Amino acid sequence: MIKVEEKFCPQNHPCPIIRYCPVGAISQIGYSAPIVNNEKCTNCQQCVDMCRTFQFVDHSQAFAEGK
Ligand code: SF4
Repeated sequence: MIKVEEKFCPQNHPCPIIRYCPVGAISQIGYSAPIVNNEKCTNCQQCVDMCRTFQFVDHSQAFAEGK
């Protein structure tokens, strides 16, 4: 899943990453930090590659390691 790290987002501009999400899973209210709909998200990680606000969290790996 994708976690939004709000501390990395200056929250003062339209999120430029929204248009790159192939499934429309990213939204924004005003200039706030973006929101990811993890039900729509396919974990393609395009957003992760473009902005550090978006962080990929691999829960299957965490489970495998017993975390
Ligand atoms: S990982 Fe891909 S599908 Fe998910 S929010 Fe980012 S760009 Fe969209």
